[in-house]
Amino acid sequence: MSDWQRVLHGSVDSLDKLAEKFGRDQIDVEALKPAFENFQMRITPQILEQIKEVGDSAWQQYIPSTQELDVVDGVIDSLDEDGDSPVPNITHRYPDRVLFLVSPVCASYCRFCTRRRKVGDPEKIPLNQYDSAFDYIAAHPEVRDVILSGGDHMMLSDRGLEYVFQRLRAIPHVEIIRIGSRITAHLPERITPEFCEMVQKYHPIYMNTHFNHPSELTPDTVAALGRLANAGIPLGAHTVLLRGINDDPAIMKELMQKLLRARVKPYYLYMADQVAGGEHFRTTVQKGIEIIQALRGWTSGMAVPHFVIDAPGGGGKVPLLPEYVESMNEDEVVFRNYAGERYVYKQPVITVPAAEPQVLPMRAARKASPKRRKAGNE
Ligand code: SF4
Repeated sequence: MSDWQRVLHGSVDSLDKLAEKFGRDQIDVEALKPAFENFQMRITPQILEQIKEVGDSAWQQYIPSTQELDVVDGVIDSLDEDGDSPVPNITHRYPDRVLFLVSPVCASYCRFCTRRRKVGDPEKIPLNQYDSAFDYIAAHPEVRDVILSGGDHMMLSDRGLEYVFQRLRAIPHVEIIRIGSRITAHLPERITPEFCEMVQKYHPIYMNTHFNHPSELTPDTVAALGRLANAGIPLGAHTVLLRGINDDPAIMKELMQKLLRARVKPYYLYMADQVAGGEHFRTTVQKGIEIIQALRGWTSGMAVPHFVIDAPGGGGKVPLLPEYVESMNEDEVVFRNYAGERYVYKQPVITVPAAEPQVLPMRAARKASPKRRKAGNE
């Protein structure tokens, strides 16, 4: 067993252990049982350290709640990933890239997880059906980008990870490999020197991490991000907009700035999906737009993620922007800048080219060019 597996072993993974840790007055084991049975729980030592008090941002993200049982308008597979799955473990939604689920498990389980219908259940993300996934990618030359997810891809052993990288690199049309992983926040010990050395053989490999609150950027997680960056892995971050956790412009600004300091480019800010069991995490779209408005122009452009809704039913990611343009016609565009000041941009006058462009024969054109005659005389 490697060191990171030993650390993982020290996680809290039952309601009784959770009650021992936080007290039975805080953890009502009987009341939480249905939520726990619906979606499993594991909380790593790193996350336990991040929980500073009952109800704080880490608590809400990882401790099961009876609110998970209040299903209002959420659905089991809110993005219809299974509808776009041609073979097990693959979702092929966009023209040139596929999502490849390579691990059924995560180090810790986030209670708002979109994929909670299958994450944590090895039968639903089977590891013995890799071959059909590799065959599918090999048979589709339009796939130039493979996104490895799960669960968390980084929960595989180095051997397992290298096997996946090798199989993908044997497919000539796969240009880039992306790892979607929350491991740096959950189990920074997983980013070992051995992994960092091995991964460099298979570049270009990108990693999209996942951070929702500035308190998740601890000295340990920041050090793990640094090891990945030093291994030449460009790092991006996903953030989910979560009610009562990060739906606040000041918290988001601090998070985005801390990510940049840790060499991570904020990539997507997602509206929480309409997933059954996660509805109490959702806030309004207006709140997300307000947050983007509070970032754009007020801090580095690099710190501003794309704000998107992953369209329910499988429509893909749709970007949402605050309204900057007031009016637009052929002559001008009227808009407001980040501070609300009004500006006008004049549209260029586009001249229509002549129907039959005049083309001189090469010899005549040379003769007609005084510059060329001059050059020839020198
Ligand atoms: S790490 Fe990702 S896949 Fe795993 S539980 Fe959290 S959100 Fe879901």
